[in-house]
Amino acid sequence: MTSEKKFKNNKKNYKAKSAGKSLCPVHGKCGGCQLLDMPYEQQLKKKQTQVAKLLKPYCQVEKIIGMDDPFHYRNKVHAVFGHKKDGTVISGIYQEGTHFIVPVDECLIEDQRADAIIRDIRGLLKSFKIKTYNEDTGYGLFRHVLIRTGYHSGQIMVVLVLGSPILPSKNNFVKALRKLHPEITTIVLNVNGQKTSMILGEKETVLYGKGYIEDELCGKTFRISSKSFYQVNPVQTEKLYGKAIELAGLTGKERVIDAYCGIGTIGLIASDKAKEVISVELNSDAVRDAIANAKRNGIKNVRFYNNDAGVFMRQMADAGESADVVFMDPPRSGSDEKFLSSVITLHPKKIVYVSCDPTTLARDLKYLTKHGYKARRVIPVDMFPATEHCETVVLLSQQKPDDTIEIDLDLDELDATSAELKATYQEIKDYVLKEFGLKVSNLYISQVKRKCGIEVGENYNLPKSENARVPQCPKEKEEAIKAALKYFAMI
Ligand code: SAH
Repeated sequence: MTSEKKFKNNKKNYKAKSAGKSLCPVHGKCGGCQLLDMPYEQQLKKKQTQVAKLLKPYCQVEKIIGMDDPFHYRNKVHAVFGHKKDGTVISGIYQEGTHFIVPVDECLIEDQRADAIIRDIRGLLKSFKIKTYNEDTGYGLFRHVLIRTGYHSGQIMVVLVLGSPILPSKNNFVKALRKLHPEITTIVLNVNGQKTSMILGEKETVLYGKGYIEDELCGKTFRISSKSFYQVNPVQTEKLYGKAIELAGLTGKERVIDAYCGIGTIGLIASDKAKEVISVELNSDAVRDAIANAKRNGIKNVRFYNNDAGVFMRQMADAGESADVVFMDPPRSGSDEKFLSSVITLHPKKIVYVSCDPTTLARDLKYLTKHGYKARRVIPVDMFPATEHCETVVLLSQQKPDDTIEIDLDLDELDATSAELKATYQEIKDYVLKEFGLKVSNLYISQVKRKCGIEVGENYNLPKSENARVPQCPKEKEEAIKAALKYFAMI
């Protein structure tokens, strides 16, 4: 079935789910696609609501940017290899939280070319009599396969991960694999002898091709090696970076920082529209790719630094440097105070924050908005259909004197409860009715809110004329409303 057809049938399949069937035979075992069986429109709504809930205190959240075809989008595919008791080779993924392998033949979010290669490598291991690695005993050889595919270029990299450096009949193995899959452009041997949950080890040798693939993104060509970070959904990445750069509103005069730059993508794409770009990244392999990418695209106004982003920014701030725009795209754990406080010192006009975790984003926005910045635009982008994850891009700029100041909610942690803080009148009414069986009016709620020192709109429900007779909230209802305000942590 084509992906399009699957997409159209997704609604139907959702019904099948309620009859106990899923789109995927290992759904629930692998733990990867929590939302797979939910119709795509509903997935988008769920993510929109989640981001809105977390970021409501900072800015209105715009409509999420979804995919036309939310299947087979992953350009990076990993399979762990093992064998059953009867010796049959299996490949798949670890069951969540365990080292038990769930066999996977085809995954609905992975590139289908990669899945086909992995299936055939299983067959080759059998014919070459290569033993798979045993996690518990440390015996055996073949551990993992990692495949990266170029969406526009069609290039494919296969990384074979072994427990020790010698692959028997190496040349014949490579030949056989290339014969089955002539679309493979490079094969890399990676050695990981450690008992670790990391897939890749330190040592690598190139068995065939260049040792990396190239792909195009927003009109530029990027080199991607096995260990560098590269966004897994190329279709959505173009939309995400397009938005990030549009939000920065570059004119060609700006000094731009691209922090957590990976292989240099955002800064290199922005470089045409900026005076200069300074990029920083912790992973040295990624920095090597980034430098090659600048050369490959003939870009001369970007400099790369291999450093911790926070340390680097502090050094810049201490040296009295300045920047006009800061792009920041940290890992899931978000940024840190060293980085954020240095950004405040550098005082850029704009910050464009690209985040893959709205919870840590909300935490970092709390810091930035407390220190002179205001969130102006928030746009969620669905980079990970079928999963619970959501990417978001945020534009912040310096607070102006006439900007409304947000009431400081002063929460220790921004968690789901914070979203309840701004309970609506309706939510308060519902609570009072449910808990106390009492009906209360907007007028009574505003009277009690005012009594409790909560800001209520200037003329809201105040008598319009001096001698207007305004009913006063009875004691019993006042207590009930106070209980609701307490419940919603408003007092
Ligand atoms: N902007 C890039 C990469 C984003 S992923 C892109 O879109 O492709 C986050 C990146 O931050 C990864 O490349 C990771 O290696 C890097 N990173 C993680 N911690 C870091 C730190 N403390 N300082 C600098 N870079 C860091």
